Amino acid sequence: MTKAYSLNLTVLAVALGTDSLGTTHPIDLPTMSARRPLNPTVSLQICRFTILAFSTLNGSETRAQSSEGTSRYIAPMDIPVELSGNFMEPRSDHFHSGLDIRTQGREGIPVKAVADGWVSRIKISPWGYGKAVYIDHADGHTTVYGHLQQLTGRVGEACLDHQYRQKDFSIDWTPEKGALSLKQGEVFALSGNTGGSGGPHLHFEVRRTGDQMALDPEVHGFAVPDRVPPEIHGVRLYPLTDSSRCAPYPEKAVGYAAHGASGQYTLKVTPMAFGTVGLAVNTFDRYDNGGAKCGVRMIEVFVDSIRHFSTTLDHVDFNLNRYCNAHMDYGLSKAQKMDYHRCFRQPNNKLRIYGKEPKEGLS
Ligand SMILES: [Zn+2]
Repeated sequence: MTKAYSLNLTVLAVALGTDSLGTTHPIDLPTMSARRPLNPTVSLQICRFTILAFSTLNGSETRAQSSEGTSRYIAPMDIPVELSGNFMEPRSDHFHSGLDIRTQGREGIPVKAVADGWVSRIKISPWGYGKAVYIDHADGHTTVYGHLQQLTGRVGEACLDHQYRQKDFSIDWTPEKGALSLKQGEVFALSGNTGGSGGPHLHFEVRRTGDQMALDPEVHGFAVPDRVPPEIHGVRLYPLTDSSRCAPYPEKAVGYAAHGASGQYTLKVTPMAFGTVGLAVNTFDRYDNGGAKCGVRMIEVFVDSIRHFSTTLDHVDFNLNRYCNAHMDYGLSKAQKMDYHRCFRQPNNKLRIYGKEPKEGLS
């Protein structure tokens, strides 16, 4: 079920209009170019912005099972699912490509294949995912299990054998298809804290096998209880052209704290902006269990009831993942650990997570 929660704020925007009639437009799309010439015609606009942040994607269960043909995955561990991180939450320089499942603060919890399949890759490294196992499934998906303490049973023996043959601890091995087949629920490893891990947990991923695109595990057969609405903690306006202004500063961006709870938020201060401005929203989500700060799935911005911007955070393309820094307000992420999603597309941003609405900003 999709849960939508709105942030209503009134923005006074004084636009330097270019139309010869000097009429007022609720949103003047054709003139949203950064190269717009100044014009003495000044029109006063009062826009109502609505920002919707979604924690789950609408109809995700149906889509997962019908068009993708995904079979049901079981949980990879026999403990209550509690996340310390979710899919596509913004991290330092990348979107997180899977779920971080807590392991009760300890290592050694048996890890199971979430569906029938075969081990397609074993990567052992002191870095990254540490000890990691990739399992291919007949439905066209690969599941990835990272930061494992050790591999067990047939998988563990085969891994050790390969390490001896390679005379190396670090391996990146792709066993032949079917050589290490696993049944759903079969234990093949113990959870751990290896590689770049800040504490015991299981990193769990679902990828499309063909192109290794990371997909949302919650949409592809693995559900996590979430009845908690996303939180919106503030918005930020950015002047996007030489003539734009976010009062009271001549060139700087301005932030506004949001107040509210349970999905309803407002701004106490009415933003004043001039010209074409970009908007960013500080938003995140929490699940029923654990309370960790996680990412949202979708953000939409409406101006006077017209959808002006949307982003759907539903896949991680590892080739483009560094553009996370263009999507997020990089400075605020680094300095203050605030998750400001830009609701406009910067020219250098190649991510394919945006809707077809105009990208440059609001004017
Ligand atoms: Zn992780």
